[in-house]
Amino acid sequence: MSHEIDPQYLIDTLHECVEVESPVGYYPEVHAWLRETLAEMGYEMFTDNKATAYVRVAGKSAEKCVCVGAHLDTIGLVVRGINDDGTLRVRQLGGINYASIEGETCLVHCRDGRTVAGQVICNHHSVHVWAEAKTDARTEDTMSVSLVADVASAEDARALGVTEGAVIGIDPHFEAFDNGYVVSRHIDDKASVAVLLDVLRWLAESGEKPAYDTLFAFPVYEEIGHGGAWVPAEVSEYVALDITLIGPDYAGSDEHSVGVICSDAKGPYDWELTNTLIACAESACTPGRWNTQVCFHYSTDANAAYTHTNDLRSGAFGMACLNTHGRERCHVDALVETERLCRAYLMGEGR
Ligand SMILES: [Zn+2]
Repeated sequence: MSHEIDPQYLIDTLHECVEVESPVGYYPEVHAWLRETLAEMGYEMFTDNKATAYVRVAGKSAEKCVCVGAHLDTIGLVVRGINDDGTLRVRQLGGINYASIEGETCLVHCRDGRTVAGQVICNHHSVHVWAEAKTDARTEDTMSVSLVADVASAEDARALGVTEGAVIGIDPHFEAFDNGYVVSRHIDDKASVAVLLDVLRWLAESGEKPAYDTLFAFPVYEEIGHGGAWVPAEVSEYVALDITLIGPDYAGSDEHSVGVICSDAKGPYDWELTNTLIACAESACTPGRWNTQVCFHYSTDANAAYTHTNDLRSGAFGMACLNTHGRERCHVDALVETERLCRAYLMGEGR
């Protein structure tokens, strides 16, 4: 089967999705956006009690139910205290690299529904004031969020609605280049969300049916490790679409490629399902633009599902991404290859 894919749709959808705020566990806005986007394609979204969003698509066979997932949540921050000068002490939601968010603007989501713009700063924030501005380690204890408002005291910050437990989204700072490269925060995992949405669009427009009944899942707790911890009992295969890596242990991986994750920080994925994904890559992807990986510094919702003793096989693959959990970089080619692999898997190629 040939898989013609529109790169511009993927870039546009990624752009739309990264602009919707969804730091770990803060799902109202992204649920509203996803529900509307899916409704335009004719799908009905539903959620479980854990706020994972789903779409169900009937397959040619109801012999089993497979699940493909992409997480909606992004790394972010939560307010843990307010300093006397009105700056906010924070705690990370997910694996924040504080050095990579210094100076970035952000949005504080208050518990009463208000929002306040902020900026992540080092407490020694100006090189013209503190020599340590150049040498301080960037950590939770040396950095804070400064509200972009006339705030000089904790009372001023509280008057704007900020409290302990307010959640902070880091601005995506999206840039698409004419040559197909994209630089943005939160490519992890919104590039995969874009791919699954394009797969759903293709299924709706073409009238094609996947090989088996399929659940598309969009969890909101991946960045803290348990987005896929619970999976509906009907699911016997859970395949996560998530970023893959570029670096010394990732031979053959660059921003143009898709990686099949064979093992990660939690251990190996299912042997046979992973071999099926490799066969799908062989059949559907451009030669030289796919590889196998061991992502030992991170894990996915599929392995969260696996290790939380759901009765299923797990697998994972996704677009290679540079500068992860910072301003990330990928090329639309990698999204295209990821979608080719995804369509092949869903259509039952490689089995
Ligand atoms: Zn991810």
